[in-house]
Amino acid sequence: MKDAKHIIVAGAGVAGLTAALAFAMKGFSVAIFDKTRELSEVGAGLQLAPNATRLLARLGVLDRLIPQAVTPDALYLIDGAKGRPLTRMGLGGAEARWNAPYLACHRADLQAALIAAVNEHANITLRLGANVISHSAGENGVTVRINAGDRIEEHQAKLLIACDGVWSARRAAAELRQSAAFTGHIAWRASLATEALPQEFLAVLPDTNSVSAWLGRGAHFIAYPVKAGKSFNFVAVTKGSDPGREWSAKGDSIKLAVAFSGWHPAIHAVIRAAAEQWTHWPLFEMRSSRFIIDERTILLGDAAHAMTPFAAQGAAMAIEDACALAAALTVEEADWPAALARFDEERTKRIARVARRGSWNRFAYHTAGPLALGRNMLLRARSPERFLADLDWLYGYDGTGFGEAA
Ligand SMILES: Cc1cc2nc3c(=O)[nH]c(=O)nc-3n(C[C@H](O)[C@H](O)[C@H](O)COP(=O)(O)OP(=O)(O)OC[C@H]3O[C@@H](n4cnc5c(N)ncnc54)[C@H](O)[C@@H]3O)c2cc1C
Repeated sequence: MKDAKHIIVAGAGVAGLTAALAFAMKGFSVAIFDKTRELSEVGAGLQLAPNATRLLARLGVLDRLIPQAVTPDALYLIDGAKGRPLTRMGLGGAEARWNAPYLACHRADLQAALIAAVNEHANITLRLGANVISHSAGENGVTVRINAGDRIEEHQAKLLIACDGVWSARRAAAELRQSAAFTGHIAWRASLATEALPQEFLAVLPDTNSVSAWLGRGAHFIAYPVKAGKSFNFVAVTKGSDPGREWSAKGDSIKLAVAFSGWHPAIHAVIRAAAEQWTHWPLFEMRSSRFIIDERTILLGDAAHAMTPFAAQGAAMAIEDACALAAALTVEEADWPAALARFDEERTKRIARVARRGSWNRFAYHTAGPLALGRNMLLRARSPERFLADLDWLYGYDGTGFGEAA
């Protein structure tokens, strides 16, 4: 039996590291276990909206991240076939409107910034090569078993926070029927050095310091700078079949080009320029969110509610979850049942609303024919202020206080 920590976190992804920081700041001691031996650079770009960066600032992570990230000037929605902008939504004013910046960054840079902050906390330990294989909750705490490669260890804690991702073993162990299901969509990812961007793409890209979302029949294509502007991240979302539980399998750029046939040559120029790099990621989602397994075991992040990237809120929801849970619980355990019930109710509502926005974006982005014409007319007619106002509920939300901005 090892030392008893207040809290054990399973998984050192965005949810787990954020949860550890948020709880440590409240005086809890935290042990994080991750099954990987080395936290890799695997991953691609992430967009972090103000609802996430506001919380990262409070945790002392934002200042570490900003030098590696990009603050985009705008989001452009672009007609994927014609290469013509349908609308421009200014993001430069995010800080003034929502009191926090809109950032684009590489997942590895966010993880590194979180780990740097974690390493500075005397009351957080992070262990790699430690697979959380089982847990059993009792009245006074939880026993967590770890496979550390050469031995099995048992650890005691007051709470187990399972942040073990979309294929969460803790969720599966609870025999919840609503596990992750394949969405029918694949996210293809690649990046290029900004200086290697093809001319055909640069010729139609409104500017290189913005996010652009190219829309078309059954697919969309997102481009934005990361790594302090030195690199450009591309995500192409297409229909596809379930390749099984894998991240980052090598993608066939010929198949990708076929999926984008009829699209603007700028997109094809990028597909060719990054031909050797495309990876494809199956998109899984939970049909419904689930946070509480029992009073001693809580799911957060993708383990609780993996969602599609159509609202670009996967990492942001993990960060919100973590901060909201830490805000809800004090060291006074007597309050936990009521606090957990409130947390569960509020987070379930919030996640459902964000998931609905994602479904709406999927419809609007991938629509074709007369509906697409209608969409384009609507986008052109809508004032930039209305676009921003429509995001106040999402970006203005403070994950540590229950309740949404107007
Ligand atoms: C390698 C990787 C790359 C990704 N890249 C991107 C990206 O580029 N863009 C994007 O939008 N999203 C990406 N995602 C998903 C994105 O990070 C999540 O949607 C979001 O950040 C929520 O993260 P999470 O912490 O809930 O889950 P995850 O980021 O999946 O983290 C889960 C962590 O739990 C660990 N783990 C799993 N099982 C166990 C266990 N039994 N015991 C101990 N540890 C365990 C995993 O090793 C992992 O570190 C990526 C995820 C991974 C794992």
